[in-house]
Amino acid sequence: MATEMTSRERFLAMLNNKPVDRVPVLTGSTMVVEYIEKSGGKWPEYHSNPEMMVNAAGMMYTDAGLDTVVVPFGMFVESIALGLDVKMGRIDIQPSVRSFFKKPEEVNYENFLENPYVKTTIDAIKLAKEKYPDAAIVPFLVAPVTLAGDLMGAENLSMLSIKCLQKEKQMEKMEEWISIALEINKIYAQACVEAGADLLYYSDASASPNLVMPEFYYKVGVPVEKELGDFIHNMGCPWELHICGDTVPIIEGMAATGADCLSVEQAVDMKKAVEIAGNVPIVGNVTPLLMVEGTEEQIICETRKGLDGGAKASMLGCGTPPLATSDRLKTWVKAAADWSAEKL
Ligand SMILES: [Zn+2]
Repeated sequence: MATEMTSRERFLAMLNNKPVDRVPVLTGSTMVVEYIEKSGGKWPEYHSNPEMMVNAAGMMYTDAGLDTVVVPFGMFVESIALGLDVKMGRIDIQPSVRSFFKKPEEVNYENFLENPYVKTTIDAIKLAKEKYPDAAIVPFLVAPVTLAGDLMGAENLSMLSIKCLQKEKQMEKMEEWISIALEINKIYAQACVEAGADLLYYSDASASPNLVMPEFYYKVGVPVEKELGDFIHNMGCPWELHICGDTVPIIEGMAATGADCLSVEQAVDMKKAVEIAGNVPIVGNVTPLLMVEGTEEQIICETRKGLDGGAKASMLGCGTPPLATSDRLKTWVKAAADWSAEKL
């Protein structure tokens, strides 16, 4: 076992397949009502106020004992910055994108970095770095297939994802949307890395086998994620890829993107995923709802199951639910520490 590490050291060592003092415990998106209220956050201001954002997200590190501080809270920032309609939800409901563009030419991203929500992310990264130098600071970002889906509308994505495998003309259309999404991803990624991010955490929720065929993912998703990932690596920053649903049929593709770490859902058999991914660390698959209503026994049992299955860090299957309770988050972190003390 390595001597005691800071959260940041522990997290970076895990990504590099190096020894750790205990397995890291990571969060995906974080919008926990208990922490927002305890830290004085106000809805919807905490989405556009870096201090409120960092104070709430930081409690996952300072209070619950997780290793990452993740900002921003939701998957709407890219869309709102491009002028799409976003319903802001509630203190316990994530904002959601409600409109889309008819044609790729309608998307204007010239002033993307000037948008107040984008600026909030960048300022929150800087502030979190300053406040919690020993934590891993991780921006939560929308990956290219999902962003292309936000641009063209989710239904159009699912239709076009089938048509483009059959007709060259439709593939050209798809490529147009995807390349705009990629350009926007790169602009945002660069700003996040320059602000001091330790890793960029991408969710490609719409690349899930629940929504598009694995064949589409391999043909369109993998190359575009890889291109974005290479761009991030060239700036010296690692990145993590999350895709929802049972991703076993596409894990090989996810690993081929060059991501430094893959995050999977509770639907995924951890052992199988680890076997397929080879050297790429897999994290995740603890059922998020356990943080809302799980018993101590259930939380301990699932945490251990994931780690016994070969997960390199404990992480929830998707984002942390807004109604998660701090006592359950602490039980989870302790379960990972206890497992480490026994098995590392
Ligand atoms: Zn997910």
